[in-house]
Amino acid sequence: MAAPKYLTGDKAGIDEFLDRFEVFLFDCDGVLWSGDHLFPRIPETIDMLRKKGKQLVFVTNNSTKSRADYKKKFDKMGISAKEEEVFGSSYSAAIYISRILRLPAPKNKVFVLGETGVEQELQSENVPYIGGTDPSYRREVENSDYTSIADESALDPDVGIVLAGLDFHPSYLKYSLAMAYLRRGAKFLATNIDSTLPNAGSLFPGAGATTAPLILASGQEPLALGKPSQAMMDAIEGKFQFDRSKACMIGDRLNTDIQFGIEGKLGGTLCVLTGVSKKEEFLAEGVAVVPGAYVDQLGDLLR
Ligand code: PLP
Ligand code: CA
Repeated sequence: MAAPKYLTGDKAGIDEFLDRFEVFLFDCDGVLWSGDHLFPRIPETIDMLRKKGKQLVFVTNNSTKSRADYKKKFDKMGISAKEEEVFGSSYSAAIYISRILRLPAPKNKVFVLGETGVEQELQSENVPYIGGTDPSYRREVENSDYTSIADESALDPDVGIVLAGLDFHPSYLKYSLAMAYLRRGAKFLATNIDSTLPNAGSLFPGAGATTAPLILASGQEPLALGKPSQAMMDAIEGKFQFDRSKACMIGDRLNTDIQFGIEGKLGGTLCVLTGVSKKEEFLAEGVAVVPGAYVDQLGDLLR
């Protein structure tokens, strides 16, 4: 595998790299910002790419926010972006359910482990759901509750899908109900299975971590609809209609973003070193996921 090209400070290399692509798929957290901290020269770099006529898509695994939430965040950060350019893992899951899976109503109801981002995107696709942020699912389970949870007739007969995203209020009740639906044959989907999420200079349990109890208990693996799932790439290509060989994925995480671009056979991948992955991880001998190029920070593309 060719060694990744280091582009920071390499003006000719940057020009040549940017000229190769018509479309840039951007990971968000770790590339544009970290939590609420905007990295240097981001709005200017995005404007520069727009002036060059590049098509931009912002691809995030953060399932807790909807596309509308992201648009607000872009506005707050002073980055020009349209809601239609945002493609999040919750939206990816919602359109997979409504446009690909297409379970016949009313058996298309979703039991949600997750936050408002999942709920809003399901609403945008008119997919019915229960669970999610409904506080009644947060109550503690007592020994005396097992009988009622196990009572088949108490389950919603229309639930045909369990969808798990990062859940800030996981509960034994939610896991038990989700497991009951899976045992009854519901399809198991996840917005994404990132083990961790970076914030405030530290690492926190990600969606994969809050979904893990259900995976372990049920013995089933969910179909994940976020990066690096190619179901997400197919959906992005379906929506934005581009030539993969002219597209580049920019991200900070090798096992989600860069793998996503490589598996999707995009023309290129660019790793930025402002997030999770360190250059030692891809510069070492014999590693599996190697980006085509890397920069210290995204703003280095601005000459
Ligand atoms: N999941 C959650 C809940 C997050 O908060 C974040 C980052 O903010 C991510 C995943 C990773 O997002 P991205 O794919 O934009 O790096
Ligand atoms: Ca990221």
